[in-house]
Formats: sequence, C-alpha cells, structure tokens
Amino acid sequence: MNIKTRFAPSPTGYLHIGSLRTALYSFLFARHHAGVFLLRIEDTDRTRYVEGAIESLIKTLARMGLDYDEGPVLVDGRLEEKGENGPYTQSARLELYTEHARRLIEQGDAYYCFCSRERLEDARKAAELSRLPTKYDRTCLRLTPEEVRARLEAGEKPVVRLHIPEGETTFEDIIRGSVTIQNEQIDDQVLLKADGFPTYHLAVVVDDHLMGVTHIIRGEEWISSVPKHVHLYRAFGWAIPVYAHLPLILNPDKSKLSKRQGDVAVEEYLTKGYLPEALLNYVALLGFNPTGDREIYTLRELIEAFDLSKVNKSGAVFDVQKLDWMNGMYIRSMDLGTLMERAEPFLGGAGKALDAERLKKILAVEQERMTTLTEIVEHVRPYVESVAYDAALLVWKKSTKEDARAKLEGVHELLSAMAPQVFDDVALIETEVKRYIEDKGFENGPVLWPMRVALSGSQNSASPFQIAWILGREETLARLAHAIEYLSS
Ligand code: GLU
Repeated sequence: MNIKTRFAPSPTGYLHIGSLRTALYSFLFARHHAGVFLLRIEDTDRTRYVEGAIESLIKTLARMGLDYDEGPVLVDGRLEEKGENGPYTQSARLELYTEHARRLIEQGDAYYCFCSRERLEDARKAAELSRLPTKYDRTCLRLTPEEVRARLEAGEKPVVRLHIPEGETTFEDIIRGSVTIQNEQIDDQVLLKADGFPTYHLAVVVDDHLMGVTHIIRGEEWISSVPKHVHLYRAFGWAIPVYAHLPLILNPDKSKLSKRQGDVAVEEYLTKGYLPEALLNYVALLGFNPTGDREIYTLRELIEAFDLSKVNKSGAVFDVQKLDWMNGMYIRSMDLGTLMERAEPFLGGAGKALDAERLKKILAVEQERMTTLTEIVEHVRPYVESVAYDAALLVWKKSTKEDARAKLEGVHELLSAMAPQVFDDVALIETEVKRYIEDKGFENGPVLWPMRVALSGSQNSASPFQIAWILGREETLARLAHAIEYLSS
C-alpha cells in the first residue's frame, strides 16, 4: 500500500507543541514507509481565523525541517500550492463539501434542519434540566419532503445534519485498539452550516478521502469524533483509513498541556533559543521510545526508528528541564563554526563590541555552560564589559579581605612578569598559575576564587584561566588591579 499521511492544522495563530508532535509523527511515519506527507489548512471555522497564521505555520514547519510533498507553500512571500490533490486549503473547497452534503441528503443519510438557534438552545436547556441527553431531538427529521421543499422555496436557510443510524459503531485504532460506541450517544452532527461552510467533520472526511490519505495520525482529543466520521465513510461507500490517536501531552501536574503553566507555542521556544533539532528530538520522545535508554536522535534516525505500534497509550509529561538538558547536549555537540552562526542572531547589541576571533574564543569556553542560545548575551557580557560586583564576593569561604588582596597581588605580579605569549594558550596560563600556587604552598581555593571573581565579576563563570585567555594580558591585569584596589578601600 502507498502510505499517505497528513497534518491538518487550523490557522489559529501559532503552532502548539502538541500539533508539532502530530505533524512530526505523521511526517516520520510517511517518510519511514517512503510514503507521502501532506499539509492541509483547515480554515472553515472563520471565527477562529487569524490573519497571517498560514504563512507563519508554513515558516515554522520549514524551520523545524518538516517538509511535505503536497500542500500550500510560500514562494517569494506568496502562498502557492504543490501537489495534484488540491486546493489544500478548505475555504477554497467549499463547493466540494456542498456537493457531498447534497449527495448524503439524496441518499437519506443526512437531512435539512431548520431549527433556530434559540429553539436548539431551549431544547438543550430543557434536556439538561430533566437530565436527558442533550443531543438534537430530531424535530426536522420528521418533516415531510413537501414541508422541506416548501421551506426551502420560502428562502429559509437550513443546516444539514448527519442521520446517525441505530446500533453501535466499532473502529480500530493502532494505538488504542478496538473502540466501540453506542450510536445513541452520537449526536446528529451538523455537516453543513447555514452559511454554506462545512463543519470540521464533513470537511475532514471528504478531504481525507479525496486526497487519498491512508493513515490519520492526530491527537487523542479527536477520537470522540471518529464514530461520526465512520458513518460518513460508510454513507459515501469509502474505505475507512487507519487511525492512530496520540496520547495527550501533559503539564508536570498531569493536567493537559496549557499556556497557564508555560509556553506551548513552538515559535516561543525557537525565540527563546531552543534549537529546532533539539525541540524535535525532545517532542519525538513524548510518547514514543525507539529503544532502551538512548535519547539523542537526528531526524534521519527518527525516520529510521519510527514505529506507530511503539507509541504509548498514556499521556506524556512535557518537562522543560529535560528539554533544557537536551538543548544543552545539542549545543555542546556543535562544531564552533556552526555554533557561531547559530548564536549570532541572538547576540543583538552585545555582538557589536566583539570581533569574530574573540567570539569564537568565548563560545569555545561557554559552549559547555550554555542551555539555550538566548543565554549567549549573558555569557558574552563579562568579556565585553566589567561586571559590577561586591568586594566581599572576592573573599574565599572563611578567608579574609586582606588574604584575598595578598593573593591577587601575587597573581598580578606573576602574570605581569610572564611573556605575553603565555596569554595565547589557556593551558600555559593554567600551568603557570598552578605552579605558583604549589611553589608558595597555597591551596587552590584562596587563590583561584578571588582571581575568578576579579576577572568575571560573578561567582558562576568559566575557569579563571579561560577568562584570562579570552580577555588577554592587558584586560586581565587591569581587572586584577581593580580588584586589589577595591579590596584596599
Ligand atoms: N483541524 C484540526 C486541528 O486543528 C485537525 C484534526 C484532525 O487532524 O483531524 O487540529
């Protein structure tokens, strides 16, 4: 079988972390089986439409490396489409849905409903009060064909409802197994609204069929819609695709992942300096474990390993600390040239005071200590300006200001007497300073601590040798002298 999957987002403004996983799994499954992956824009709910959302979605998918074979693309900033099953934007397919709704009416699988919003609302409230199901009460199913014709001719604008037959509905889901629902629990779903726009249910079934989708991979929240879709497939006489409903993504407190507890937009994570490849890797493992303990996978390796039958049933917790760890791993494994390129856009004004050589040195040192690319600004700061600090910070543990000053004077003397080339080699600086400590019979802490604070202005920083190497002879000596003076006042 030729496999075809789709990602079918609604353009509501940003790409949710959960949708990224849906897109990723659909992509991985298609690529693993050398199938086709398509993008379809589901924009029939005009109240949720956000200007520019389609463009931003396409850009985000591109940044994440999720390329698709069919669907809308941006060419010179304009929307175009590739693929032969389009248009891939539902608002451009309205006629198709109307045609299909008409066909269902003719077959007796759907019916016109003229009930006003007010009447439906009253009936719903009354049912709620008497604790009855709040489904549509089928008033319009009882209209005679003549009554329907007369009302249509009089210009009334009805909706079209699916007529759910009696009995029960069973469908298979790769992840959830066999699911059975009693039909009396299913509402006679509106398929076409009075304004001629289809609802999600009609549009999704018509499109998935006409576009040749074989596997529907999406979030668990859609599973309750499947019975309605199954009835539509049957009414049209179409083959039912394979379903795979992915487990929910949860907040650490096990509630559904929501904005309230942190960011949920992929774009936010990218802006905050998470690498697309790390975010993808992390999201791929939310509910899927290829093998054992291994956690770092490239996209290519994920394609190779992906298997829908290994997707968990239970919800997966989105843990930002774990993502931080993974992002740090990716940053550390990058070669310096690439890291420079990737970090540059995050530098902003801080970059202006730096030449490429210096930036390279800083990154070589700070790469080990970075979690996200936005942190670059903070990591660069101590090298481009002296950071103000409290003199007390220069004092090692139970030592004294006097002792700190004496040790700094010793280091200053040592470094100013050394050949300037020593500063070109971080290992040499370290050897010289450590030899000095040993010769004098000092401990490391009382010397290296004040030296590090004097050079960085902070208690968390790279080693004093690394900082001296980056700052160079002149600036290193100046900062040591400043600290000595600071301790004397
Ligand atoms: N348009 C739906 C959404 O916004 C897609 C549901 C589906 O994949 O069937 O997520």
